Amino acid sequence: MDFALTEEQRMLVESARKVGNRFGVEYWREKDKHKAFPAELWQAVCDTGLCGVALPQEAGGAGLGMLEMALIVETLAACGGGPTLGQLFMVNPIFGGVSISKFGSEEMQRDLLPKLISGQATFCMALTEPDAGTNTLEMRSFARPDGAGFRLSGQKIWITGVPQAAKMLVVARTKKVDEIQKKTDGITLFMIDVSRPGLRHTPIEKLGTNTLPSSSVYFDDVRVEPNEVLGTLHQGWSHLLEVLNTERIVTTAALVGATELAIRLAVDYAKGRKVFGKTPIGAYQGIQFPLAQAHAQIECARVMNYRAAANCDAGLPYGSDANIAKLIAAQAAAAAIERGMQTMGGMGYAKEMDLERLWRDARLFRFAPVSEEMVLNYIAVHDLGMPRSY
Ligand SMILES: Cc1cc2nc3c(=O)[nH]c(=O)nc-3n(C[C@H](O)[C@H](O)[C@H](O)COP(=O)(O)OP(=O)(O)OC[C@H]3O[C@@H](n4cnc5c(N)ncnc54)[C@H](O)[C@@H]3O)c2cc1C
Repeated sequence: MDFALTEEQRMLVESARKVGNRFGVEYWREKDKHKAFPAELWQAVCDTGLCGVALPQEAGGAGLGMLEMALIVETLAACGGGPTLGQLFMVNPIFGGVSISKFGSEEMQRDLLPKLISGQATFCMALTEPDAGTNTLEMRSFARPDGAGFRLSGQKIWITGVPQAAKMLVVARTKKVDEIQKKTDGITLFMIDVSRPGLRHTPIEKLGTNTLPSSSVYFDDVRVEPNEVLGTLHQGWSHLLEVLNTERIVTTAALVGATELAIRLAVDYAKGRKVFGKTPIGAYQGIQFPLAQAHAQIECARVMNYRAAANCDAGLPYGSDANIAKLIAAQAAAAAIERGMQTMGGMGYAKEMDLERLWRDARLFRFAPVSEEMVLNYIAVHDLGMPRSY
């Protein structure tokens, strides 16, 4: 077991830090205020080759792995992006990149991966449905055969980054529930144009993650071409799980970076703020201990996430590690940001101190992309061998 970074990994972290420092907290504060997509940051990430770090070299990627991606995301999030930074990596190199590089046809890989890696095209992923939620296998969106292709109808909710995206990874049923033995059968992944006739999306007003819009998406008899199927027809569920497990690693990495950022902002403030005589408030243990506790927790999550990522890259099982790391990271991030705000007193409530943005944004990751309850269910059933309750 070797915890030292390779020279290549150190250089990637350095590149990410340089990009991140160009787009620090002031940049994100402005983008958040105007609910604007961080296009300049994303282009810089792509120009520096960081988007394609885990994608194949033939397509213009670096051919490295999830560990390198985690290091990059952590660093960019810690420089100012916070937890939402991870979503940019989720929708692009994960939902777009992992799905196409693993399951896309050669033609699709040739066409789309260079556009993704260069930043020319961004992606989104439509899985969640209003009447299915966490129980995704209850999805009703249906693609019926139509000549050589399909016609897609249904509704999705909470889909991230739709207005900017050129392409949408859609998860839909291709067999009726009464035609299948198991609910995991008869599901197919498609990669379609967001601008396709019959596809409509409307924004959802929400608490935070303002730089990436969330939308309801409606498919009304949308034409899907045969070459837009990803992987094997009707076998999309197992493909999807491969995509979603890597998503956990990116989520955790962004939460690790966000926690580092929140603690840094709080510590800097606490060292300078004096309210009783000459003693800075940072000298009080009531201020120190909760921040130290959050630091200890997040370092555990960081190392667990590295193990998940390294095992993923080595082709070993990593689902439990990825879930555990995500659970602890989301809780540690929430605690660190909350205590950071408390450390700043009234100023923690001010936009200019950035913690309120982190507080709004980090809240999302207690229940998405997988909720704490579902992670605990997973641990209880898979790791502890307890009976499934649902
Ligand atoms: C800002 C935002 C961005 C998102 N982006 C995307 C995206 O890009 N693409 C996409 O497809 N989806 C996206 N989602 C959806 C997200 O993945 C879901 O919101 C999340 O999985 C939870 O589903 P739900 O909201 O339907 O909650 P529900 O399924 O209604 O669950 C409600 C509560 O019940 C709990 N619960 C449910 N079942 C159990 C059980 N068996 N045991 C214990 N507790 C249980 C849950 O943990 C949760 O706390 C996004 C959501 C948000 C808010």
